Amino acid sequence: MTNIAPMLVGLTGGIGSGKSKAATYFAELNINIIDTDILAREAVAKGAAALEKIAKHFGRSILEADGNLNRRLLREIIFSNPFEKQWLESLLHPIIHLRILRLLSELEGPYSILMSPLLLETEQKNLVHRILVIDIEEDTQVTRTLQRDGGNSETIKGIIASQLNRETRLSFADDIINNEGSPELLRDLVYEQHLRYLEHLEGGAVAGSKEDD
Ligand code: ATP
Repeated sequence: MTNIAPMLVGLTGGIGSGKSKAATYFAELNINIIDTDILAREAVAKGAAALEKIAKHFGRSILEADGNLNRRLLREIIFSNPFEKQWLESLLHPIIHLRILRLLSELEGPYSILMSPLLLETEQKNLVHRILVIDIEEDTQVTRTLQRDGGNSETIKGIIASQLNRETRLSFADDIINNEGSPELLRDLVYEQHLRYLEHLEGGAVAGSKEDD
């Protein structure tokens, strides 16, 4: 018998859209969350094989004095060089994918959530049964990300431009949560979505993942 949760929901959205906040509200409802940002960080943690490969590829200057990855430097390099970005992605994405698969076999509960900023750009989308997009206007993305991270709006607009555009992202969505309102409203919308997923499961609508379509 397998432990795999009967339904896996892919939760995605652009920078600052509120993925993490929405995931927190699903977690309050005892729904398991797989956070690909955490998996990505673990993949390049000190001692990880991938970090050695990165240091070999970019030189030891990509490491901090204590041996940890200099994330800011790496981000700068790949932001200005698409080939290096591709090299890094082809190293890390299979590792993250494998980690997701390992975690999937341990999940329990009516359904689980795979939270990923790169859900739609990677093979991860084929692992999920439904896609939930957290959607906000670009201006709100900029304002909230600035409030959270500081920096300047041009950099954030650059990141937004490098991500999937809003229309394309929404075209993948089975379900959409609009997060223009307050955190309290987001919590309510998450709860309503949770009830719809439970109804969906009661109706026996979950068959294979998108990979099996
Ligand atoms: P990233 O992809 O950059 O990691 P994210 O999609 O996970 O971002 P969050 O970190 O959840 O986004 O939200 C971005 C910021 O906006 C956070 O500071 C969060 O607290 C805030 N935020 C999220 N939703 C709302 C809301 N409805 N009202 C006000 N602030 C919000």
